[in-house]
Amino acid sequence: MVEIWSAWRGKGLEDLLTECRELLEDMSFPSVHRWREGGGKVVGHFQVYFPEELAHAAGMLPVKLRGFPIERKVADSHFGSYICSIVRSNLEVALTQRLPLDLFVSHPICDVARNLPSVWRPNFQFPCLLLRLPQNPTARLALDFLEHEYRSLLSRMEEITGKEVTDDDLRESIEVFNENRRLLRELYRIKRERPWLLSVEEGYVLMAVGTLIPRQDHNELLRYALSLIHERQVRPQDKLRVVLLGGFCEQLPRELLRIIGESCYVVNDDLLIGLRWITYDVPTEGNLVRNLAQAYLESDSFSPVQHDPRRPKEEMLLRIIRESGAEAAIIGAAKMCEPGLDEQVAYAKALDDVGIRYFVFDFEEGMVSFDQIQLQIETFVESIMFV
Ligand code: SF4
Repeated sequence: MVEIWSAWRGKGLEDLLTECRELLEDMSFPSVHRWREGGGKVVGHFQVYFPEELAHAAGMLPVKLRGFPIERKVADSHFGSYICSIVRSNLEVALTQRLPLDLFVSHPICDVARNLPSVWRPNFQFPCLLLRLPQNPTARLALDFLEHEYRSLLSRMEEITGKEVTDDDLRESIEVFNENRRLLRELYRIKRERPWLLSVEEGYVLMAVGTLIPRQDHNELLRYALSLIHERQVRPQDKLRVVLLGGFCEQLPRELLRIIGESCYVVNDDLLIGLRWITYDVPTEGNLVRNLAQAYLESDSFSPVQHDPRRPKEEMLLRIIRESGAEAAIIGAAKMCEPGLDEQVAYAKALDDVGIRYFVFDFEEGMVSFDQIQLQIETFVESIMFV
């Protein structure tokens, strides 16, 4: 198979990170175009979680529609005014044909995302679908239902690529993604245990680039980057250890991550949590589609868009704070994001109850002015460190 992006090869860590940043910010999506030039098909899937193994097994490139730093010219007229930015920038890159797709899939994570297929459908020739991930993973029929959803999605992808997916294809894909999640867990272990080796922005860049290239290539990149990170000569500093939440759907601007990382060690976060949603190796024996569905339902992750009574989100937040040795929390929410803003209130109450300090803010992926928020974060950190 032709490699669709190799700019990182042989580079030192700083240059490798620069290449990743450039790919993430290149709104001509060169890696995706290269994939299609080789005859490949592309599925664009909306945040938060998507079973990318199914797309991989069917021979499609899964591209996470994580929102894009782009000036919007055509997409805004398709939405009302009180709507988050990510749905607009995703539509913008598709309408302007910068990002070529053969299938679009959204999920019922909120009212906005639930209605996206009907907004997209009149504008494109390719199918626009809703993958109905169960809201309550403990519901009696959730597993049967999700397996059925996955099987019908897989059939649609088989129709698009003309490839009949075998168990061996699925097994191979699950192994690739198990490996990817293991590597991402290692990245997060470094952030937790030796956060001075990797800032929150650097970790994000290394993870996010995987949303634009085949996952086996991302695995290679991560393995190489991890070896460089382990060799990095950086001294620990006296910085506040924080958990950062708010990046489950619309993403915080990279510049904001850089600013947070200047003042704090972010020892855990929920940026692109869908890529790390499954926290164990999916079994590669038995009913593989059902295994994937079960892994989604049984995962140990949390975000405002899933309601699992076994894992109240406030408790999960306190747990990750405890497990990562964090001293405080930074809780963001995208502007106009109802799930995020709702959870902010619940998180704040839970943190008040146990006396953990926190900073609350809202953001937009396209924000360009950071002076005020930088000052607020610095003041927050100083109020804890120097009193
Ligand atoms: S940012 Fe919030 S409101 Fe917007 S699509 Fe995502 S979850 Fe829904």
